Amino acid sequence: MKLDSKVPEGPIGEKWTRHKFNLKLVNPANKRKYDIIIVGTGLAGASAAASLGELGYNVKAFTYHDSPRRAHSIAAQGGINAAKNYQNDGDSVYRLFYDTIKGGDYRAREGNVHRLAEVSVNIIDQCVAQGVPFAREYGGLLANRSFGGAQVSRTFYARGQTGQQLLLGAYGALNRQIANGKVKMYTRSEMLDVIVVDGKARGIITRDLVTGKVEAHSAHAVLLCTGGYSNVFYLSTSAKACNASAAWRAHKKGAFFGNPCFTQIHPTCIPVSGDHQSKLTLMSESLRNDGRVWVPKTAVKGLKAKEAANIKEEDRDYFLERKYPSFGNLVPRDVASRNAKTVCDEGRGVGPTGLAVFMDFSDAIKRDGRKMIEQKYGNLFDMYQQITGDNPYEVPMMIFPAVHYTMGGLWVDYNLMTTVPGLYALGEANFSDHGANRLGASALMQGLADGYFVIPYTIGDYLATIGWNDKIATDHPAFTEGIENVKAGVDRLLSIKGNKTVDEFHRQLGLIMWEYCGMSRSETGLTKAKKMIQDLRSEFWTNVSVLGSANELNQELEKAGRVADFLELGELMIDDALNRNESCGGHFREESATEEGEAKRNDDAFAYVAAWEYTRESQPENLHKEELRFENVKLTQRSYK
Ligand SMILES: Cc1cc2nc3c(=O)[nH]c(=O)nc-3n(C[C@H](O)[C@H](O)[C@H](O)COP(=O)(O)OP(=O)(O)OC[C@H]3O[C@@H](n4cnc5c(N)ncnc54)[C@H](O)[C@@H]3O)c2cc1C
Repeated sequence: MKLDSKVPEGPIGEKWTRHKFNLKLVNPANKRKYDIIIVGTGLAGASAAASLGELGYNVKAFTYHDSPRRAHSIAAQGGINAAKNYQNDGDSVYRLFYDTIKGGDYRAREGNVHRLAEVSVNIIDQCVAQGVPFAREYGGLLANRSFGGAQVSRTFYARGQTGQQLLLGAYGALNRQIANGKVKMYTRSEMLDVIVVDGKARGIITRDLVTGKVEAHSAHAVLLCTGGYSNVFYLSTSAKACNASAAWRAHKKGAFFGNPCFTQIHPTCIPVSGDHQSKLTLMSESLRNDGRVWVPKTAVKGLKAKEAANIKEEDRDYFLERKYPSFGNLVPRDVASRNAKTVCDEGRGVGPTGLAVFMDFSDAIKRDGRKMIEQKYGNLFDMYQQITGDNPYEVPMMIFPAVHYTMGGLWVDYNLMTTVPGLYALGEANFSDHGANRLGASALMQGLADGYFVIPYTIGDYLATIGWNDKIATDHPAFTEGIENVKAGVDRLLSIKGNKTVDEFHRQLGLIMWEYCGMSRSETGLTKAKKMIQDLRSEFWTNVSVLGSANELNQELEKAGRVADFLELGELMIDDALNRNESCGGHFREESATEEGEAKRNDDAFAYVAAWEYTRESQPENLHKEELRFENVKLTQRSYK
């Protein structure tokens, strides 16, 4: 199969406008003849469901949560980017486009990223109209702050609860459509398979998480808005329930997986404190606007936060400010994370494990006053204090990098369609716009761009092409077979009755992934990890213990299915990391570093999207390459100095 990105020709600033004009339309009266399934009601899914319902399509929306408000999107803290240039500090659509391409280390599609920058401005208007309470300045204008990888302030925020407020906005819009009868909402329903007939996506199979009932649903198109797969690492900042099963099962039905090894490690998380943990907590990147990151110039074993004041100014190494004077503490996440690891590897880390660096607000508090800092970050400071017991108004925070986001995901073309016609992926579930490293505050932007402003145009083109008669009812044998397969999968998990819990397998997988496919990767380590994952997967299928039964609320069973998928996806991530013998963004191959220890790309060999095609169980996948064309931005060694 030849990958066709469908990025339109023409000048970068005109591609999306021209494309919208060239797309086929479904006339308003005919929209009600089409059914669309949306899996996931986080920011991407809720915005898509609300928009498509408003347009007149019949939407069925699914989530495994008890309410759309529980989606992981609600956890987003720091903000959402938009090229509004309210600050008059030199921002523009082109600059946001440029920063995002550069921030992604030149591994994203120019056409997609420019479109994202264009529609970013509409997102803010849309959300303000919904009543999202963005922070405002004294004069009443919306306020902005800076995020990593940018020298302008373009991040809109609602204290440290931006995701929550945006999701409430989208949820309100979604509820309006539910009340209008245009969206039917299925909560506590987990999608466990996609049904493909004659090469097109026709529907899904779900399991009711309360009763265990397995059901079929058919539609003209299926949208997966099912989030990212950071939890393959077990410990991550993602919500505990986040998983890859929807995307993975679609992958097994023909949807290619793009750049699976591109994972984001966020520099400012609360460090791991022991084996008991099941979740890591993010301290928003917005804190790096005012927090200064440092370690002692010479190692001080076990340095506590309350002893930080004993280290004299001249004995401190503000390593980000020293190495990157232009961007200082606001270098992109991959750069900040790698540098934190380096100083800890040198033995200069702080805290009981030595795997932490300080983020210090004392200068900002002296300069702006405690009240101002409280207004900007109050809830984040409270959260930090509740978790660690330290008061960050008085002592520095201790932070360390942790897995946070996955840039990889289902491969989609410019229309957000996967390689299965009629199957789309939106938000974090697709691989689309962030290349090898996502800039902060751009995931919310992308999810909402996809849902509010891209899919409402592009899906019409497909639906108008197939026509409303091209739908298959759920009594088709493919659906019956789909139901039987899902039930058989559930029974298989319950029948093993082994000795090890699902969590034990998951934790073991996470340790392998973090050690060998985390912040730095090497051929030797990855090769070793591949074998370890294969062995762990074999053991899982003979020794996992899943208690309870199929026809009841059974969270062990839910987790077991998800971990089984992670055990397969993990191996694909390793294969992808092995294949990409260059460093770029968050993917750091030890064999490919500059003299200064920065990621060294190999554009001649790797300026492509790796799109993997599933073959058969436990068999190597086929690699397809989508060459990336850079017509507007010159590929250079990324520098933030
Ligand atoms: C702590 C934290 C802070 C963050 N802060 C920011 C920030 O400040 N700015 C920013 O831009 N980004 C931020 N991000 C990233 C951002 O929050 C996410 O990338 C984004 O919210 C993902 O949205 P989504 O709609 O794609 O997926 P999600 O919000 O993860 O939604 C996924 C949906 O899919 C459903 N689902 C999944 N699988 C299935 C299935 N099989 N069956 C049924 N339903 C299913 C879930 O129930 C859920 O409704 C942050 C991330 C974290 C972890």
